[in-house]
Order: sequence, then structure tokens, then C-alpha cells
Amino acid sequence: MFWYFNPLTMQQIRSCSAVMRQDQNIKIMTVIDNGNRRRDEYWMLKALELAEKALDRDDFPVGCVLVMDNEIVGAGARIHTRSGDENELDHAEMVALRDWISRRGAAGLGDDAVVTVYCSLEPCLMCLGALILNGIKRIVYAYEDVMGGAAGIDFSNPITGCGKNTDPAGPGQQGCLYHDGCVDIVGGVLRDESLALFREYFLNTGQSYWKDSLLCRYTLDASCNH
Ligand SMILES: [Zn+2]
Repeated sequence: MFWYFNPLTMQQIRSCSAVMRQDQNIKIMTVIDNGNRRRDEYWMLKALELAEKALDRDDFPVGCVLVMDNEIVGAGARIHTRSGDENELDHAEMVALRDWISRRGAAGLGDDAVVTVYCSLEPCLMCLGALILNGIKRIVYAYEDVMGGAAGIDFSNPITGCGKNTDPAGPGQQGCLYHDGCVDIVGGVLRDESLALFREYFLNTGQSYWKDSLLCRYTLDASCNH
């Protein structure tokens, strides 16, 4: 299944302010130019559609699409979050990555290929690492994950095992897969639309996944700007 960017449909999409998170040492772009923003909103809407489908089947409402040359090349939603069938591997980004890899086969990525990832929730450490290792240079997400989000990670921090301060070359040396600045991350695109799905999820008392967690409490306390 493929979608193409169609500017005409952008009129149907509500604008949403980017979330400012200046309290962290992060690389999130807080100012998005209008052209990128409209395009980002268009593709984020596709990720949100997948998140809504996950919600409809009582899974955690996260969706993800990978976009290259105005075309979705991989897509996925969170699975295996229902009681008794839970795991922490099948996050939406991982599902989308597998979809992308299965589609492209052994062809791999060309040197000039630019893939942008749109995810309705801030990627966790596992997914961020997997995305970077698969050559992703730009990540756009909707709703901040105050519990497990990794967008603010400092890749020059010794805890990542990358660019240790004791290394002769110092942090962020050339060749390190996680060196600082290797990926652009944009947060808050259609944030409130994603928040609404999470509110609906956590308000459903039949769900046990991350019930009463920090993310649950934060989500139910959070307010929409609309
Ligand atoms: Zn994840």
C-alpha cells in the first residue's frame, strides 16, 4: 500500500504547535518551517491512522510510517500489548522497519536515499537505536513519551558507550554510529491528535498495559491546545 503527498488534502489537517522542550539536552527542532511542517503533518496523519487502528483492536495506539521520495516505503503499528500477549519488541517503529526491509529486499539503501520516520509517539531507546542503525537521518514524532522517550538522549554521554570522554578522540568522533548530530528529531507534530488517542486508551479501564504508569498519569493530566 502506498500513499503520495497531496497538498490539497492539507487543508483538512489542523495545525498544531510544536512542543517546546528546552529543559533537556536534546536535538529536537523547536522551530519548523511551514513547508516542512505541512508535509510533516500530512505524513504524521498516516501514522495516526495506523495508531487509531491499533486502538480499535485494543492495542497501544502507536503508528509509524517511513517515507522516501514522497512515498511510504514502510509502515506499522504497535502490536502485542494486550493482556497475556505482551512484549517489548513489537513497537510500531520496529514493525515499520521490518516492513521496509522486507519490501526493499537485499537492494539496500542508496547513498543519497533519505528516509524520514513519522511516529505518533516519541521513540524509545530501542527504537531510536534501531532507526539510527538502519540509516535513518530524520525522525518526526507527535506525542512526547515522558516515561520511555529517548529523543533527548545525549549520544556523547559515556552511558551510550559511544564517544567516551576517556577516548583519545573524545566524544562524537567520526565513525561512531551514534555520534552527536547524526539524526534530526522533530517533536510535537499533530501532538494533540496523538494525545487524544492515548487519553482514550488510558481511560479504558479494561487495558492493563502501562496502566497507572508515569505515561498514563501524565497523559490523563495533559491538556490539548485545541
Ligand atoms: Zn520503541
